[in-house]
Amino acid sequence: MNRIIPLVFLIITFAVVLLGKQRLISVSVNHEIVNVADKDDCNNLRLIQTDEDEPAEWMTEKEVWKLLRKGTKFMDITDNEDLGTVVKSKSSRQFPIKPSYQKEVSHYKEKLSTKYMKESLKNFTSFHNRYYRSAHGAASSIWLYKEIKRIADRADDYVRISVRKFKHKWVQISIIARFEGSDRNKEDQVVIIGAHQDSVNMWMPTNGRSPGADDDGSGTTTILEAFRVLVEGGFKPHLPVEFHWYSAEEAGLLGSQAIAKKYERQHKDVIAMLQNDMTGYVGNRQESFGIVTDHVDRNLTDFVKSLIDEYTDIPWANTKCGYACSDHASWRKAGYPSAFVIESKIDYNNPYIHTVKDTIDLLNFNHMLEFSKLAVGFAVELSHIDESEKI
Ligand SMILES: [Zn+2]
Repeated sequence: MNRIIPLVFLIITFAVVLLGKQRLISVSVNHEIVNVADKDDCNNLRLIQTDEDEPAEWMTEKEVWKLLRKGTKFMDITDNEDLGTVVKSKSSRQFPIKPSYQKEVSHYKEKLSTKYMKESLKNFTSFHNRYYRSAHGAASSIWLYKEIKRIADRADDYVRISVRKFKHKWVQISIIARFEGSDRNKEDQVVIIGAHQDSVNMWMPTNGRSPGADDDGSGTTTILEAFRVLVEGGFKPHLPVEFHWYSAEEAGLLGSQAIAKKYERQHKDVIAMLQNDMTGYVGNRQESFGIVTDHVDRNLTDFVKSLIDEYTDIPWANTKCGYACSDHASWRKAGYPSAFVIESKIDYNNPYIHTVKDTIDLLNFNHMLEFSKLAVGFAVELSHIDESEKI
């Protein structure tokens, strides 16, 4: 009897500790209830890479948050250490020297407007945050999925299009919308346009308010508008074209790494990938595209410059952003050509990202629309790359 009492006490204590570690949170999304477990796992060790040439380091999540506060870019490779081991050739492909599908691009470009961008970004920033492991982050990703699906459902019957959820170990999904190509022998080739949907408050990552209007609500909305006009214009690309909205970029490119790893394993031939991360802030500077020139594919980046010259109304300026500064880095690591455009030269970027002040009132929607023009040009031109005259 004397021995049983302490044993029962021990079991009860253990159960209380276990239950306390995993709280269940409910959140309402368009009248649907999403339940997510908020795991207190900030003492888990993560394998973090901050430089291409340096070995990765094991860190606690709190140490990772310190990197976020310092503005150090990083890739969390804990679950994807083998990314880039299948596609051996990192040699760049040839891209056309100049654009050639002006008529097709203008058919979609003339449908672009800031109206829907404003509406969708207002909704998207109204979630408390879009942190990848929070109930709010789960809810925002479901809202976005439904919005993309609603647009896709309006397509004419001859447009072959699908919208898929890409599920992860955490609660926020990534989303992939795909236009099938007309050449059915080339289903494994794909052109990708991406942005990340998650946001983070660097002072209170798991539960702080983080509207993430610019980072990266702007890129999310920019490519959503490009997607909308392609759907409504009846886009039938020659090669498949996909739009990706990644989860968990702020946690070390987790969503894009998981997708890139899957594509690599499936031996998909990613023709080209263009990342849009922060497209809305101009401040009091003259407008330009920031074209990232480090850790990107050089030939593709040159082609993107020619697309900006042809299809947009503002100039570009070269800039550098360091290792793993957005999701294009996952595709590059997997061995595929990727490029990255941002709102300005890095030094003039929005100073309020990762805080409560990253709000919609500081953004310029006409600037974002220039990035949508580029996304449309990129989708159309590269979907014809196998028919284009090469250098
Ligand atoms: Zn970002």
